[in-house]
Amino acid sequence: MAPRIPLAPPPAAQPATDADARAEALLARMTLEEKVGQMAQITLDVVGRGKSRFASDEPFALDEAKLRDAVVRYKVGSILNAANNRARTPQVWEGIVGRIQQLARKETRLKIPVLYGIDAVHGETYTVGATMFPQQIAQAATRNRALVRRAAEITAYETRASAIPWAFSPVLDLGSDPRSPRHWETYGEDPYLGAELGVQVVKGYQGERNDVSQPVRVAASVKHFLAYQVPSSGKDRTNALVPDESLYEYHLPAFKAAIDAGAHTIMINSGLINGVPVHANYEILTRLLKERLGFKGLVVTDWGDIDNLYKRDRLVPNVKEAIALAINSGIDMGMLAYQYEEFCDNLVALVKEGRVPQARVDDAVRRILRVKFALGLFETPVTRVKDYPKFGSAEHERAAYETAAEAITLLKNQGGLLPLAKSSRVLVTGPNAHSMRTLNGAWTYSWQGEKVEEFAGRYHTILEAVQREIGPANVRYVPGVSYNMKPEGKYYEESADQLEQAVAAARDVDAVLLCVGENSYAEKPGDLNDLTLSPLQLELARRLASTGKPLVLVLNEGRPRIISGLEPLVPAIVQTYLPGNHGGEALADILFGDVNPSGKLPYTYPRYPNALVTYIHKYSEEQKRGQGAYHYEADYNPQWEFGHGLSYTTFAYAGLQLDKSSLAREETLTVTVQVTNTGRREGKEAVHLYTSDLVAAQVAPDVRRLRRFDKVSLQPGETKTLRFTLPVAELAYAGPKGEKILEAGDFEVRVGDQVKRFTLVDSPTAAN
Ligand code: BGC
Repeated sequence: MAPRIPLAPPPAAQPATDADARAEALLARMTLEEKVGQMAQITLDVVGRGKSRFASDEPFALDEAKLRDAVVRYKVGSILNAANNRARTPQVWEGIVGRIQQLARKETRLKIPVLYGIDAVHGETYTVGATMFPQQIAQAATRNRALVRRAAEITAYETRASAIPWAFSPVLDLGSDPRSPRHWETYGEDPYLGAELGVQVVKGYQGERNDVSQPVRVAASVKHFLAYQVPSSGKDRTNALVPDESLYEYHLPAFKAAIDAGAHTIMINSGLINGVPVHANYEILTRLLKERLGFKGLVVTDWGDIDNLYKRDRLVPNVKEAIALAINSGIDMGMLAYQYEEFCDNLVALVKEGRVPQARVDDAVRRILRVKFALGLFETPVTRVKDYPKFGSAEHERAAYETAAEAITLLKNQGGLLPLAKSSRVLVTGPNAHSMRTLNGAWTYSWQGEKVEEFAGRYHTILEAVQREIGPANVRYVPGVSYNMKPEGKYYEESADQLEQAVAAARDVDAVLLCVGENSYAEKPGDLNDLTLSPLQLELARRLASTGKPLVLVLNEGRPRIISGLEPLVPAIVQTYLPGNHGGEALADILFGDVNPSGKLPYTYPRYPNALVTYIHKYSEEQKRGQGAYHYEADYNPQWEFGHGLSYTTFAYAGLQLDKSSLAREETLTVTVQVTNTGRREGKEAVHLYTSDLVAAQVAPDVRRLRRFDKVSLQPGETKTLRFTLPVAELAYAGPKGEKILEAGDFEVRVGDQVKRFTLVDSPTAAN
């Protein structure tokens, strides 16, 4: 019988902070109505007329009567996002938040500031002029913790420059299903990679010691707890069918890591797990999140999800029952969006009727007030843009460029086609060639990212960046295929725009840069029926390939669109993901050799639509070979593997060593390995350490798992020794009920092409 260890030791009681004490004192003075108001969050649309022109400095028109009703009469505790999904200048934000706080501070009895929250997702999404970083999926490809941390620090600074102290980020959903329309919002398919980068964002937002009272910090809201983006139909918010073993082994670790790192708030999965809406799941919200994981922060629903309990999920017949169910399950704040009156009135009645315990409301409000005190909102309810001289500065923009340059991933480079000579004459073509919208993806100046073209002049599309790189005279541009860019149109509609002209133009150049992929989308509007690249784009690609001209396929997409029929026809393929405002320049620098690519895929690039198997799977070809086993997952045959990514130089691995060949459960393994740059130019290599549990008794073992990674920079001929430490306890796996199991037996450690074994024993042996 394998010994079992608990999921995690219950967190040690933390010393009470000043924020705790002040929250407690304030709570003691509050009426029921004041408490319930704190638990309500509405969108700015409710209290604003929202008529100000996009990108203008005009003061945004708040609806004074409505604002007074919400903030003064109902004491609504939180407001989110931008009215009409429109970006505003930091000055306009200062005015909006300033007026809201003025009312809360001057005209309510207890002067409790409103907690303003926003989807600052890859930069301060809703502020004009904010630095827009590559989206999370691209940041994961950098494998560079320092860059991810820096992006978070800058995002926090620019969000505070916009007078907002709370960011609904990072997304720690596991990106294991590429059909999901939010795949690009994740750090990809690996739980460890997600956990490591999520912690960097929490620290970047909140500071090393989580002292968010500093006015350059924001409270993080890790989301969407738990197992969002495991859509049963591939579509957004469809029921996730997840056994406990997978929930604990793959979906929980990133959230646990972010909670342990001190994340102040958490947002709940809007969908269902095994048929149960998460915001109605006491086991997940209270037993797991608050009790077992010891989460002390604020738990907020996602958009309109209390309403969804009766309108969509049909768990209860009406809104009052929905409120009771969500709050009793462990929700502290409802992202109500619009209906604060019915939430507040019903919740007050429910408490009076004894259907929601007073203690539950107190617990929720305590958590909300703690965040407000921790953020210093009682002292500084509004930060001023004049105190943020680095907002949108060249230094910040440079960080976004550097992140893009390390994210872009060279997938194929047959015959060393890349880098291209700067004297080349090139045709730039494809629907993604000349668009800031496609470079950024959604959550950029608006929810769906469709407003981004209004800023086109400030940054460079791929076409413009290539023109700057090699001179406009050497560049021809024919779109070939175009997206429907009308904000009101469907994001995926395409037209064959001068396809024949593109093919004709290819005949006159030295190389063709074909930029394909996707237009921007987020959430449900981004649902797909087919993961394959669109028929028109495939046709353009095939026609261009048939010209015989060297063809470079540039992918600019939020999820890996299948291109298996096309791939053999194309000698060079580069994945840009959604690289942000500086992605065009970073790409041009890579294509023409100024920058050596170093990105690595954060997901398995699928080859077939019916074989969406991630690198974490149960049976591998290697394991089966020679053993006569039935091939349960013979479809693990990806286009490119997780971790794939080429360089213009080459790296060799040697000398893998484990400090012990036999270890006890409480011991730590030390692994060393040498990495050498064996090519002719400087390069960066992301080094991955995997382990394989060769036999596991309770659940068939995964073929391999990422346990450590690091990124090194090497001059030609240079060798570096990397050293990783790995507590053996980390190799425990989740059993059928989610319990952690650590079994004695043999394990393999793999770094590059180097493999070594060690044995986990029940007691240390003299063999070490
Ligand atoms: C999304 C969340 C987001 C929220 C507020 C929801 O639809 O699922 O990720 O934070 O809206 O905009």
